[in-house]
Amino acid sequence: RTAVDTPLPVLGRDVRVPLVTGGEVPYAALDYAASAPALQRVWDDVAAYAPYYGSVHRGAGHLSQLSTDLFENSRATVAEFLGCRPGDDVVFTRSTTDSLNLLAAVLPPGTHAFAFESEHHAALLPWGRRGDTAVTWLDAPRTPGQAVEALERALAAREPYGPALVCVTGASNVTGELWPVRELAAAAHAHGARIVLDAAQLVPHQAVDVAESDVDWVAFSGHKLYAPFGAGVLAGRADWLRRAEPYLAGGGATRSVARGAAGEPVVEWHDTVARHEAGSPNVIGAYAIASACRALTAAGFERLEAREQALLARLREGLAEVPGARVVSLFGDDAPRVGVVSFVVDGWNSSHFAAALSAEYGIGVRDGLFCAHPLVRALLAEGGGSSDTAARSASAWGGGGRRAGECGTPDEVPAASAIRVSFGVG
Ligand code: PMP
Repeated sequence: RTAVDTPLPVLGRDVRVPLVTGGEVPYAALDYAASAPALQRVWDDVAAYAPYYGSVHRGAGHLSQLSTDLFENSRATVAEFLGCRPGDDVVFTRSTTDSLNLLAAVLPPGTHAFAFESEHHAALLPWGRRGDTAVTWLDAPRTPGQAVEALERALAAREPYGPALVCVTGASNVTGELWPVRELAAAAHAHGARIVLDAAQLVPHQAVDVAESDVDWVAFSGHKLYAPFGAGVLAGRADWLRRAEPYLAGGGATRSVARGAAGEPVVEWHDTVARHEAGSPNVIGAYAIASACRALTAAGFERLEAREQALLARLREGLAEVPGARVVSLFGDDAPRVGVVSFVVDGWNSSHFAAALSAEYGIGVRDGLFCAHPLVRALLAEGGGSSDTAARSASAWGGGGRRAGECGTPDEVPAASAIRVSFGVG
């Protein structure tokens, strides 16, 4: 626990938490991969705008106009931040999960999706749920080169040779490892497939360039980009989006609605980005994302990355001194990664270890399978996994351990899980 310089202040740096051993310490937020704190700048921008809040696309009043401008300018800021091509759509969604489900909903009939089994569930599960689409999960590769080869083989072998979509992560939410996005995009395109980049863990750490990396779509969540106000993004090719049935049916997505002669609905959907943004949009969430994009760009990713890599090196050095600690990875120890590291410690139940970090040191990390069950189970099996034979029980640290959540309830504590430390700016 050493003070580090702060390139961009975040909320919560002054929050103090009680320790089970008595006293209190400043909270050490090391769970950015689950959700990052808001940048101070984002919070300030949101607070400055809040009094001027008004309905978007739905009002003639001054504040409605102002809010509509702000919402649309936020879209333009995100497009610029992502390096989108002219004509690309930027759809505001709720999250990465929502964005990928939206894309799954607009796939042309017959689309075959491909994803490595090592992906986050949000990038694994949306595909193939519609009866007229299919999905194949590919083996987790052990080198970036293997990933490209495996994808090429799978795409070449597909029958019939119809539309295909590849979904791949930019940086793993488990190992932090970077994936060969450009090469995978080239492989996908060489076989007539399209590719969507799950950038949930990439955008907070590295500049993403949609045009240059030649991905067709990119998805991310505001809450991992220091803008935790309930919005996400799906950006990319407009054609599939604008041809498909709207993701949500409702106001704002329609040009005209009428009742036909036999009482049937006669609906003309917008063929703009509005088609998939039915309902009153989350203008504060979108504005917060745009604010974070501006702040990160102004700070400069090179500078942010340099600091993050220095912290990463320190974390790895520290872990090397912990008896029995083993960092998990797919591509090997030296593979480039962002500030996300998962590990197990021999003789320790990971839930207990994480609970102890919180209760005894005020350090907030995450333990579990990180919504990437196939990957984490396989990585844990390799090294024997973490032990369930902790000498002390989690309740000794004030009832810590796993809480109810998206990937399991306290009754479903997995026999083996990992501990994840993740960070970024702030
Ligand atoms: N993909 C990756 C790589 C993630 O890390 C996450 C969040 N852990 C998601 C997708 C899903 O993001 P959200 O929960 O914001 O929808």
